[in-house]
Amino acid sequence: MPLLCEVAVPVPLARAFSYEVPPALAASVRPGARVLVEFGRKKVLGVVLATSEGAAPEGVRLKPITAVVDPEPVLPPELLSFLRELSSYYFAPIGEVLRLALPAVEREDVRALEAQGELPGTLSRVKQVGGRKIAYARPTDVVEEPGGLRGQAASVLALLRSNGEMPIARLEEKFGNARAAVKKLASLGLVVTEEREPPRDAFFVRPEPRDEPPELNEAQSAAEARIEAALEEAKSSAFLLFGVTGSGKTEVYLRAIAGCLARGRGAIVMVPEIALTPQLVARFRARFGDDLAVLHSGLSEADRHAMWKRVRTGAVRVAIGARSAIFAPVANLGLILVDEEHDGSFKQEEGVRYHARDMALLRAHRAAAVAVLGSATPSLESVHLVRQGKLAELRLPDRAHREATLPEVTTVDLRRIGPGATGNKLISLPLHRAIEKTLAAGEQVILFLNRRGFAPSVVCESCGHVATCLACSVALTFHRARGGRMRCHYCDWEGPMPAACSECRAPSLALEGLGTERLEETIAEAFPTARVARLDRDVADGAKAEAILAKMRAGEIDVLVGTQMVTKGHDLGNVTLVGVLNADAALSLPDFRASERGFQLLVQVAGRAGRRDRPGRVIIQTRNPEQPAVQFAKRHDVNAFLEHELADRAEVGYPPFSRLSLFRVDALDEEAARRAAGVIAAHAKTSPEGQSRVVEVLGPAAAPLARLRGRYRFRVLLRSKDRRALRAATAVAAAAIPELDRRVRVVVDVDPVAM
Ligand code: ADP
Ligand code: ZN
Repeated sequence: MPLLCEVAVPVPLARAFSYEVPPALAASVRPGARVLVEFGRKKVLGVVLATSEGAAPEGVRLKPITAVVDPEPVLPPELLSFLRELSSYYFAPIGEVLRLALPAVEREDVRALEAQGELPGTLSRVKQVGGRKIAYARPTDVVEEPGGLRGQAASVLALLRSNGEMPIARLEEKFGNARAAVKKLASLGLVVTEEREPPRDAFFVRPEPRDEPPELNEAQSAAEARIEAALEEAKSSAFLLFGVTGSGKTEVYLRAIAGCLARGRGAIVMVPEIALTPQLVARFRARFGDDLAVLHSGLSEADRHAMWKRVRTGAVRVAIGARSAIFAPVANLGLILVDEEHDGSFKQEEGVRYHARDMALLRAHRAAAVAVLGSATPSLESVHLVRQGKLAELRLPDRAHREATLPEVTTVDLRRIGPGATGNKLISLPLHRAIEKTLAAGEQVILFLNRRGFAPSVVCESCGHVATCLACSVALTFHRARGGRMRCHYCDWEGPMPAACSECRAPSLALEGLGTERLEETIAEAFPTARVARLDRDVADGAKAEAILAKMRAGEIDVLVGTQMVTKGHDLGNVTLVGVLNADAALSLPDFRASERGFQLLVQVAGRAGRRDRPGRVIIQTRNPEQPAVQFAKRHDVNAFLEHELADRAEVGYPPFSRLSLFRVDALDEEAARRAAGVIAAHAKTSPEGQSRVVEVLGPAAAPLARLRGRYRFRVLLRSKDRRALRAATAVAAAAIPELDRRVRVVVDVDPVAM
């Protein structure tokens, strides 16, 4: 019987391709290894998904594999099968999914490699850049004979054991003859040495002294014990770590990782935005040393690749990153942590639209690993899983620092309270007074507003026309920077502000509403002696954002104004006042999750106030103080909010009480898009599940953002309580896609988040 193999080629085609394995290569073709194959007229790198003995179908002549590139699989089998499941779950081409998991160089255009004469063989193409290597010494688990070591060797070993790994040069600063001591320890198997480049990464610039793990409080101990037990059993299990901000969740993560490492297994840690979490990385370094892979967008391709290889070989056992860290090739995976599991950024909104939290549960399950989802405001999905018995709940009900109490939250009804002392009706008098008082006490203020720019819209006072983007159905935002420009926040179009209204020609355009730019200016004018700074996407990306936060921590900023970026888990000790300028902007989105997201945002931003010994205060400005998200946030009552919101969702039949798949259809031609959406809906309706109404088909309908970048957008939503039925109907509808008008683009979004 000839040997056949299924190969995925990193192109966006749904299926894998079959090739024949020449007898000479039969012994070296393994799932997860890369092979060189002819694809059309080109030679490309593919990844072997599976091999099987058998004959090619009648009348089909399979091409042979040209060469085997990897002696060892490039992806661990566990990761490969996870990727295949992910591809199937999201109706995503396996080639596209592989692209997510393989660094660019590992799937590089093959001709470049051939030209260099480096194929077949392993990839030596990525030369180490920089080149200055440093020798490190690291203690092993080997135990010496009692009293067997004396002098410098004993002291060096003791230091290494308390610090973990250290550069040998640093040891020499302390002990004159450290090199000889290390050599001796290495010969006894007590330490290992390794030469490699020092991490040049921004996350590793400052040395981080080792910390002393604090004694856990009762709730933390209980949580740790449950996780330990699960790790010990080495069966898959999943937890929801539900603890208020500052309750010590991170400390529980650290213990869980230590437990995982002690069992010789590796861990993945996922956070919403790695660039905004240097403090978290610092705490990991303080506990585990610098042998961490921090996967972030600031890495060069070569550094990313080097890191990826160290993770894959097990040289580094802990990988930290944003959602894409779910693809880290961690060997012998034992633990996946998802911090701030409720965060929307875990859902990828382009290409393969996977949800990293859901995939964490899947990968952990298949790898017999432990998953821990942590949050102060868990997602309804996770809470529902707890109630179904699929997640075990671990609670941390109190803040870890006993003195730190939850802040007092008050609301200001914007309909009743007149203009504040600033003359700006969007900063109420109570908020103004509170800022004054806080500044007088030498404490810091955070003001949250989820709108960038100076004014969210430009309106004609004569005819009421609102300036909108020509390519998108949204209002243009006015930005003060660079002489005053109008900008579209969706397609990034930018242009000058016209002198007159484009509709009625009256020269009466006015700026309406409040954006962060204007807020910063208003505050600076109202409090001339205060040092005011702004944090939003217009002024800061990763590194700059961190610089602003560092200034805030150092007390060089009095008032920090900003968007969502200010709400993330920064531990800013001297902040005692948080103001939410307009809670309604977050709570009135056309989305069944608007209330849940708004609530999470309010609680997270409120959590920035009064983290240490000083009590905090939160003022929420809103036109509707009675709305549940505001009321429950005011009382810090996450449980009651969850009850309320779950009841609401159950009533309307939205997730977590049903599942959705969303077909997003768009085209430059409106009719073409509408028609294509109609075809998809018709297919879904004629599926057996559609006919029996087990699956509801909603639409076709225009998307809430009906036009984006010139393309008209329609959607068809499939909804069901029965996930198998939903899958089946989705598959039927998706099968219609290849037959559609070529000008139309269709994306299947399984478990959509952005509606
Ligand atoms: P969370 O991740 O839930 O926001 P952290 O783990 O950051 O909470 O803990 C908040 C603060 O309390 C941190 O400064 C942390 O060092 C401290 N902390 C956590 N656990 C303990 C403990 N058991 N004893 C003393 N301090 C602790
Ligand atoms: Zn636009």
